[in-house]
Amino acid sequence: MEVKTFGIIGAGQMGGGIAQVAAMSGKSVILNDIQSEFVEKGLAGIEKNLSRSVDKGKLAAEEKQAVLARIRTSTKLEDMAGADFVVEAATENESIKFQLFRDLDGICAEPVILATNTSSIPIGRIAAQTGRPDKVIGMHFMNPVPVMRLVEVIRGIATSEETFQTTWELAEAFGKTPAEANDYPGFIANRILLPMINEAVYCLYHGVGKKEDIDTVMKLGMNHPMGPLALADLIGLDTCLAIMETLYEGFKDSKYRPCPLLRKYVEAGWLGRKTGRGFYAYDGT
Ligand code: NAD
Repeated sequence: MEVKTFGIIGAGQMGGGIAQVAAMSGKSVILNDIQSEFVEKGLAGIEKNLSRSVDKGKLAAEEKQAVLARIRTSTKLEDMAGADFVVEAATENESIKFQLFRDLDGICAEPVILATNTSSIPIGRIAAQTGRPDKVIGMHFMNPVPVMRLVEVIRGIATSEETFQTTWELAEAFGKTPAEANDYPGFIANRILLPMINEAVYCLYHGVGKKEDIDTVMKLGMNHPMGPLALADLIGLDTCLAIMETLYEGFKDSKYRPCPLLRKYVEAGWLGRKTGRGFYAYDGT
């Protein structure tokens, strides 16, 4: 089935980025969130990114307008009836995602693939909420979506070959390089990345080093483009905690226990860049 209209649930940092790359690839996009202020914020972020590309001479001003014109905003899930492929990028919370997939299963036409951008929730558990588990798949973009080239494509136990191929080709059509993963906690990317971030938080918690020194060690010593604590702020500390909890629950192995300091920050509402404060303070720019 040719994908002409691409539906996205959640207009946060990931949903906005996915909307941008989908619209830039020529797809019509429906960008949905629960409140109009959230969709407007997502759209404003896309506009800002595109304007930056225009200023740098990487994008023509007319093309920016054409990309924006391909994005329709929505606050009603029923609007997804107009999409031929949906990717869910709502908050990393199992009950929110389960309800969304139950609802989408009733709203979207039978051939429509329902993908999830979840960082860690098992694809099989999400698929089991629907009557179309063969059409449920993980389509895991990296942050920031317009910049990062990888899309992890995750097969659930019931995902069909056709669903896998369509999703793979769509990732390529978005200019990304897909990599295949199977449905085990954290998949590949976060199974490896998050324990490293969590260990960096433990280093801070145990006073092994100051946040700047922990990040400098990993940046200059390991040639990472960002330190793990700055990266955690970019990902969102709530998302980091949710992923660690999924790993811990999924493997029942103490090596995945989330650092108490990470939990404390999340409880305080210090979620990283998106709230203006995480391990570092951000002045809203
Ligand atoms: P975010 O907090 O920036 O955005 C989530 C958005 O979902 C919010 O705008 C919220 O209002 C919306 N939402 C919540 N419930 C909804 C519902 N029922 N219907 C529609 N919208 C709803 O979070 P994010 O960082 O964009 O993460 C979104 C998803 O992408 C999560 O599953 C996360 O694990 C995954 N992900 C995040 C990253 C990252 O680096 N942040 C990377 C890869 C994948």
